[in-house]
Amino acid sequence: MLRRLLYFLVALAITAVIAGLVYLNPQQTSFTYMPENTITLPVSLLILAAVVAGMVLTFLAALLREGRRAMHEWQVYREKRAAERHLELKSEARALALGGNFNKARALLKKAVDRSTKDVDSLADYANTYILEGKPEEAKLALEQGQARFGNDPLLLFGLARAHMGLEEHGAAITVFERLLAEYPNSLQVLEPLRNALFSTKSWKKAVEVQQKICELRRDDATERNRLLGARLEASHSEDKAGRDTMLRNILAIDPDFNAATIERAELMAADGGTKKALKVLEKALAKDPRIELLDSFERIAASEEESRILKLYRGLLTWIPDTEKDKDAVKLRAARYLLRAGEVDQAKTALAGIENTRFAATAAVLRGLADQQDGKAEEATAAFNSAIDGASFPATSFQCRACEAAAESWSTRCGNCGAWSSLTV
Ligand SMILES: [Zn+2]
Repeated sequence: MLRRLLYFLVALAITAVIAGLVYLNPQQTSFTYMPENTITLPVSLLILAAVVAGMVLTFLAALLREGRRAMHEWQVYREKRAAERHLELKSEARALALGGNFNKARALLKKAVDRSTKDVDSLADYANTYILEGKPEEAKLALEQGQARFGNDPLLLFGLARAHMGLEEHGAAITVFERLLAEYPNSLQVLEPLRNALFSTKSWKKAVEVQQKICELRRDDATERNRLLGARLEASHSEDKAGRDTMLRNILAIDPDFNAATIERAELMAADGGTKKALKVLEKALAKDPRIELLDSFERIAASEEESRILKLYRGLLTWIPDTEKDKDAVKLRAARYLLRAGEVDQAKTALAGIENTRFAATAAVLRGLADQQDGKAEEATAAFNSAIDGASFPATSFQCRACEAAAESWSTRCGNCGAWSSLTV
């Protein structure tokens, strides 16, 4: 508003000045516009001509400015469209790769790579289609060519490490992942595959360090914690006797229920002549949580010189084992076997009567038959044996992983299916 008023006042002033000049110069004035050309006109007409010329020049200047702005806008628009088309191309390629159309996806990504001078992203995607297709050799080749063109871009390095993994070149994969880790020390995307590669090469000491970092980043993740304890357990194997016991005790200080460490500790002691000490360690763990793997270890160690302690242990367990205990039926079954061997038929029968798990029905029936035989009840014994034959499944799988539920023939430190440690149970 104020500006308009200002314009108005300026225009008014100019008009007044022109009017004044015209009034003061009523005669004609000569105006030389070239050395030999002169026009003679009244001042008013000369001023009018100057104003018209000024207006035309201003208009032309404005037109030029507009034209340049329009040109710039058009360029920006074209660049934006090109970028959008590039992105569309990439997302279309990704969708194709997801759908298993690897060749088409690659054709699109190749177009994207050729079109741009700095699109490392598309090149990494291009190589990734080979990895997804199960052709790590081709992926590696494409990535190495990409490195020659773009240098050691992290995306390319990451793809290369994955290609090495696919080719089972674990050592080479570890080298590349470690290089990436120096740059991205808190990236789970690097830490986790590096951990897997270290597990594959059984580089347990390094694996412990990496897994520790993963556990810090993934707090409260039971699987990751199990992996850390497992890696520590494996790393302990390269220590001498004293160092091993210290490491196993450290593991148990973190998780007293990590039975694989308890068992290894007890067996280490037994091998060193400390049978009594070993059994005490197992008894302590059993008193807290009577798991079958602990019982197995106890039986194995006690069998040679302390067999009477096995029966004592089972008698004790039968008096207090809670119904909520997962392994309770397996414990009762084993207890019944030892009681029968010792001739304590009634107690064995009581233990067998409490077994509910149908998986143990056949074995329980056999033991019941043996008990009846010892009691001289031939008919009952035959009936029990027959029911055992009906209920038996061959071959009986006796262990199951708590983490992945895969079946296993015998107990071992680590699940053969999912790799969890100390996870097998009856
Ligand atoms: Zn498992």
